[in-house]
Amino acid sequence: MSAAAKTIRMVIMGAPGSGKGTLTSRLLKKLPQIHSLSTGDILRQEIAKGSAIGTTAKSFISRGDLLPDEFMARLVENELQAQKWLDGKTSFLLDGFPRTVAQAEELVPVLKPHGADINFVVELSVPPEVILERIDNRWVHSSGRVYNLQYNPPKVPFKDDLTGEPLFKRPDDNPETFKVRLDKYFAELKPIRDYYEKQGVYHVVRGETSDIIFPKLYALVEKQLAP
Ligand code: AMP
Repeated sequence: MSAAAKTIRMVIMGAPGSGKGTLTSRLLKKLPQIHSLSTGDILRQEIAKGSAIGTTAKSFISRGDLLPDEFMARLVENELQAQKWLDGKTSFLLDGFPRTVAQAEELVPVLKPHGADINFVVELSVPPEVILERIDNRWVHSSGRVYNLQYNPPKVPFKDDLTGEPLFKRPDDNPETFKVRLDKYFAELKPIRDYYEKQGVYHVVRGETSDIIFPKLYALVEKQLAP
């Protein structure tokens, strides 16, 4: 019998517009054993539902601001508990969390008692000028599916491939808000990189397009999963 694959508890980091959403869904399609949680998607769903969390989230998101660390940490903790992923045997990927060192630190006491520490962090590194051009072309569906009019266009213009429903621009993709989000990402990047580099779990994958990045990302994750 072949040895069992390793368990991966992964964080994927990338600037807004780096292709993180697209790359993550491509990765999960090939590796369905990895469960995923996207804090941006959870917050957008809560906003759509009109819940109390959604109401709090909306004001921050529309300004391009980050939500408070403590609030986000509890949201992720509740979700990890609800999904029952904290058994030390489940592979999962966190997309969009932690975004600050404080959030990374909040995560430790949630995971450690279960022997489920983060053991793999990947930064997707895309030049900022490429990102700014790309964001102009980004259209999304309410499910979170993301299209790029240039690289990954919908089959029917401005319609979702699966449901045929209309696509729209994310409200926080307008140029002013986007610039705030990009600046915040780069301000937090170095401290969080230092934090995970010290633990020996940090990797960087570089490229200008998702087609260039994807094979590198996939190879890296496969290597990590290999027994
Ligand atoms: P995203 O889809 O990951 O770009 O997230 C969209 C927005 O949700 C961000 O610009 C923040 O306002 C908020 N958000 C998502 N994840 C976090 C987080 N870990 N910490 C704080 N705010 C977050």
